[in-house]
Amino acid sequence: MSSTPVRQGKPFVVFGAPLIEEEEIQEVTHCLRSGWLGTGPKVQAFEKALAAYKEVPYAMALNSCTAALHLAILAAGIGKGDEVITTPMTFCATVNAILHAGATPVLVDIDPKTLNMDPTKVEEKITSKTKAILPVHFAGRSCDMDALTEIAKKHGLKLIEDCAHAIETEYKGRKAGTFGDLGCFSFYVTKNIVTGEGGMVISSNEEMASRIKILGLHGMSKDAWKRFSDEGFKHYQVVEAGFKYNMMDLQAAIGIHQLAKVERFWERRKQIWNQYQNAFAKLPIDLPSGDEPNTRHAYHLYTIQVEKDRAGISRDAFLDHMTAQGIGVGVHYLALTEHPFYQNTLGWTPEHTPHATRIGRSTVSLPISPKLSDEDVEDVIQAVYRGFQI
Ligand SMILES: *Cc1c(COP(=O)(O)O)cnc(C)c1O
Repeated sequence: MSSTPVRQGKPFVVFGAPLIEEEEIQEVTHCLRSGWLGTGPKVQAFEKALAAYKEVPYAMALNSCTAALHLAILAAGIGKGDEVITTPMTFCATVNAILHAGATPVLVDIDPKTLNMDPTKVEEKITSKTKAILPVHFAGRSCDMDALTEIAKKHGLKLIEDCAHAIETEYKGRKAGTFGDLGCFSFYVTKNIVTGEGGMVISSNEEMASRIKILGLHGMSKDAWKRFSDEGFKHYQVVEAGFKYNMMDLQAAIGIHQLAKVERFWERRKQIWNQYQNAFAKLPIDLPSGDEPNTRHAYHLYTIQVEKDRAGISRDAFLDHMTAQGIGVGVHYLALTEHPFYQNTLGWTPEHTPHATRIGRSTVSLPISPKLSDEDVEDVIQAVYRGFQI
């Protein structure tokens, strides 16, 4: 192993660094100078743009995807005593949102090839309390939406998609987030398009959309955000105890321009993805499986599986190795059944979801941001090679 780090004399490659350009900076500056920083016309424009991109009538901007999931579950009429089926291979926010709504998350293990919820194992988890299926399109790979929509229809369940990785994802020509009742998106700093913190719910259901609008701003009647606008003061009424989940114009200012670049960013990540797939084909590790026909992968995360027996290095030692080489890496995700809170309150154990547990203990996410230069990508590849004694 060479002793000089790959990135010697060069900046650390930050994992998931967003690509922010002059347009975003100008729009934020404009927003700051305008005096209107909070929810307003830029949020409205961002909502309109995402609704157009997703070809849906309603899009509600919020301050995170966690907030989006929470309100989507509430708007679907789910609460205390209800069960929601989801995946163990996701960020904790997915199940926390179910818990915040007062409902109980029920896990279906993943298919180890797609890393998505295994649709053949969903029905055995359905009980009289089940109200919804909440799939996550892991890494941007579409779940089997034919199977999931059929199960949801057959059992009268709501379908809420966690599309935090899946802004560009399509399944048989249809866009992720439009299969069920509600689709939730994240614009967190590492996501495919960013606003810093931010999220959105999309829907074709007017009633649910309107409930989310109200719940997202204290439970005040619709359009209460306009009360300080040049349309004149508007009185509002509080119609339920809502939340403070609204997005600011400052955030939307970034999002509007990020969304306009979504295809260019996707093309760049796809290019990096293919470079990694070719470069790592002969290494003693598992790589992401090929794209399913008739789907569009969003290439949000590029994950490899490092198993000590085969690779000669443990996953955690490999993470340290990459960091020492000057390359930021991630873990998406330790299975949710590994966390003490869920073990203590829900009785989950790692054995409960064997595939997710095994993947979670071996997975490593490599940088795939459109901000990476060709040289950065070459450095990542070289650093990965150095981790294996070949
Ligand atoms: C990032 C993420 C979330 C939460 O998004 P925030 O905008 O940070 O609240 C939810 N689910 C998944 C799968 C995520 O990756």
